[in-house]
Amino acid sequence: MNLDWRTLLLRRLLSVLAISLLLGLISGEYAWSLVAGLGLYLYWNLRQLVRLYLWVKHAGPDELPPESSGLWGEVFDAIYHLQRRNQQARGRLQAVIDRVQQSTAALKDAVIMLDAQGNLEWWNQAAETLLGLKSPQDGGQPITNLVRHPRFHEYFAQNHYAEPLELVSPVSERIRLQFQVTLYGNGQHLMLVRDVTRVHQLEQMRKDFVANVSHELRTPLTVLSGYLETLLDHADSLEARWRRPLQQMQQQSLRMQNLLSDLLMLASLEARDYPADNRHVPVKALLASIRSDALALSAGQHVIELEADTGLALKGSELELRSAFSNLVFNAVKYTPAGGTIRMRWWRDEQGAHLAVSDNGPGIEAKHLPRLTERFYRVDASRAANTGGTGLGLAIVKHVLIHHRANLSIDSTPGQGSTFTCHFSSAQLSQAAQDPED
Ligand code: ADP
Repeated sequence: MNLDWRTLLLRRLLSVLAISLLLGLISGEYAWSLVAGLGLYLYWNLRQLVRLYLWVKHAGPDELPPESSGLWGEVFDAIYHLQRRNQQARGRLQAVIDRVQQSTAALKDAVIMLDAQGNLEWWNQAAETLLGLKSPQDGGQPITNLVRHPRFHEYFAQNHYAEPLELVSPVSERIRLQFQVTLYGNGQHLMLVRDVTRVHQLEQMRKDFVANVSHELRTPLTVLSGYLETLLDHADSLEARWRRPLQQMQQQSLRMQNLLSDLLMLASLEARDYPADNRHVPVKALLASIRSDALALSAGQHVIELEADTGLALKGSELELRSAFSNLVFNAVKYTPAGGTIRMRWWRDEQGAHLAVSDNGPGIEAKHLPRLTERFYRVDASRAANTGGTGLGLAIVKHVLIHHRANLSIDSTPGQGSTFTCHFSSAQLSQAAQDPED
């Protein structure tokens, strides 16, 4: 190719020189003929350049390049082929984009693209059905203006979206939606919204069933344990061989009553939507009262210490928090052998407020920790049976903490003890706590 254009150039220059010499021979003016020949050649080149410029600037995508010979012809053809290749590549890319847009538009799940500020950039048909977005008027609007639920605002503002969020649809109370946001590029958001109404209904049926069964079992159980209590009140007049079975029946009926009340507590926690009550809860006083209950449970077999920041109070439901905290403290008492020490600590730092309940009991192996808050999950069935636990305590703790925008962390070393810590965000602190003068 290089050789080609060099030869071409040389040939062209030689022909200009030859014609100029021929003219010089005829006219006898060699110098002028040479100037005239080179001038003509320059003019011809400039003309080709202008034709190229006009073609590049004004020609339509399919218009052929102007006809030319020699090197200029090659240049025109090369640019033309380059342009065709670009057009084909662009066409293929457009086809891919069209296919992606068509398939996304056909999805039953809503796909919404938002810029870094959360303004709508693009959405599919399902987003209009599920969220009521209107095309094109809603383009550029902040998503928080269109989905106005306070929980969505809170979820969207947090900027890290590990868990999806479930909410009712802004279009209809009967539709339940699951929102999942993913960050990409320069802080842009990709939001997927699924209709989970059916799963939600099934889940609701399960919860209602458990709640109804627990409720229905309560009355017969109360009657049974009432009779057992009366019988045991007259234990002296009973035959000795009946006393032990009756005592065991009473113990088991008490266990069933605890189980039912824990199941009902869980059902009512699940039925109530977040956030929980927003009352002022003075945590130190609450912990002091839990401590005296725990001392009674321990019957003097444990040392129970309390260290709490007096001014630090929470917003929430006192009843729920009492239930969660006492579950942690009573567990520590139940699982720590006599002579052990249990420590409650309530303090605040930059991350928020924390309640830690530590013991120097048997500890829990690391493999059990992730599953500990599951209902009826037990590390050691025989150990749990001795303590009379229901297996629902930590599940209740987890739900109460979710209601209070908090979470639970568990640290444990087998043979040395365990620490259960509840972490509350600063937003959950009661005003009185944030202002030390109060
Ligand atoms: P349970 O009613 O059986 O105590 P929980 O949900 O409260 O149910 O606790 C689940 C399991 O976690 C318990 O069965 C026990 O094995 C373990 N566990 C809870 N707290 C402690 C603790 N402080 N020390 C050791 N094991 C514990």
